[in-house]
Amino acid sequence: MNVRTRFAPSPTGFMHVGGVRTALFAWLYARQHNGQFILRIEDTDKAREVDGSIEHIIEALKWLGIEWDEGVDIGGPHAPYLQSERLESYQKYARILIEKGFAYPDPYTTEEVDAFRATAEKEKRAFLFRDHRPEVMGEWDGSAPLRFRVPEIRKYEWTDMVRGTLSAGEEALDDFILIKADGYPTYNFAHIIDDHEMEITHIMRGEEFISSTPKFLSLYDALGFTPPQIATMPVILGAEGTKKLGKRDGAKDILEYRAEGILPEALFNYLALLGWHPSDDQEILSKDDLLRLFDITRLQKGGAQWSGEKLLFINREWMRTLSDADYVSRGDLHTPDAARLHSAVSILKERAQSFVEAQELLDTELAHLFVAPTLDVVLLSSKGLKTKEHLEAQQQILSGLSESASLDEIKDALMTYADTISKEEGGRGAALWPLRYALSGLERSPDPFTITSIIGVAEALSRIETAISILS
Ligand code: GLU
Repeated sequence: MNVRTRFAPSPTGFMHVGGVRTALFAWLYARQHNGQFILRIEDTDKAREVDGSIEHIIEALKWLGIEWDEGVDIGGPHAPYLQSERLESYQKYARILIEKGFAYPDPYTTEEVDAFRATAEKEKRAFLFRDHRPEVMGEWDGSAPLRFRVPEIRKYEWTDMVRGTLSAGEEALDDFILIKADGYPTYNFAHIIDDHEMEITHIMRGEEFISSTPKFLSLYDALGFTPPQIATMPVILGAEGTKKLGKRDGAKDILEYRAEGILPEALFNYLALLGWHPSDDQEILSKDDLLRLFDITRLQKGGAQWSGEKLLFINREWMRTLSDADYVSRGDLHTPDAARLHSAVSILKERAQSFVEAQELLDTELAHLFVAPTLDVVLLSSKGLKTKEHLEAQQQILSGLSESASLDEIKDALMTYADTISKEEGGRGAALWPLRYALSGLERSPDPFTITSIIGVAEALSRIETAISILS
């Protein structure tokens, strides 16, 4: 079988994590089977459409590295891939259903339907359109909604690739709208026609569609189509693990993660672990790893808990795999001194979990690596009577080193001096603290050797000189 999967978002706003994860699994499945992955846009609910959504969806998928073989922007053998341009197809199949006696124009006004519903409620029974099928089915001229006439009221059983055997009884079947009075098809109708015409073999989608599946199956039956296989994705839960992930729990537009300095490799990796994990529990997985290891039948049935912390952890791991130059360029990091920035990357790699955090560190705690600090005389003199003496000794030592002295050389030289300070006189700390403060202007900062190796011996000497002159 030639596997064909699709991602079929509605252009109703930003791309959220749930949608993208569905796309990712559908993409993985198609790629694993040398099949095709299709991007179709379901724009039949004109009232809910948001301008710019399609461009946004395309940009988000491209950023994540999920590419498609056929789709709305690139066309393909089953073009168009935009539902609003496929109205003729829906009309064609609507006519077929009418001819077979499986569709009828809805003859009722909203008030009449409300009255049916009220009566059903009063009689404590479920309201079903199929209880109100008109005696004579009129001609459909497109001005009224076209309703499906369920051919057979029966129990349906089907196999979900993830959830196994599912079933629902007659109560799940009803005459639903195929084409609305505005001429656009409903999702229920359009996706079935499109999946058929686009030869989709596997549908990956959220669990909100399970309850409608019997309706879909009865429509497949009426049309004589073989239904594609269905894989239902686990719902994504908020960090509390109790309800569906919402905006409040940090569900964001996918491109916001980009703006926050998350690498696409990391988000891809993290999303793949939402509801699935490899048998050995490895957590850092590249696209190639995922193509090798992903197994759709091992998706979990229950909800997958979102964790912003885990995303950041995975992001840091991915950031650390970058070369120093790539780290700076992909993070779009900037400081007053580009050369020193490259030497500061090793510190950032330890500490920053996103590029936004990396830039923040550069602008605050690590700013002294690029601009000489302002020193506080009270603080500087509070660290013992011998502060000035220590600084002068260290100045001497550093003047003996070359500008490009290595971190080890700097450390060796300064440590040899620090180790000569007796316990009574405060030990190493008494010598190293003033130095660190002179170099960074901070109570807490990277060690003085690292700072010196980044700013260079000459800059270190000038900062020590400043500190000595303050103390004089
Ligand atoms: N347009 C539907 C949505 O965005 C797609 C559901 C499906 O994949 O079939 O929810």
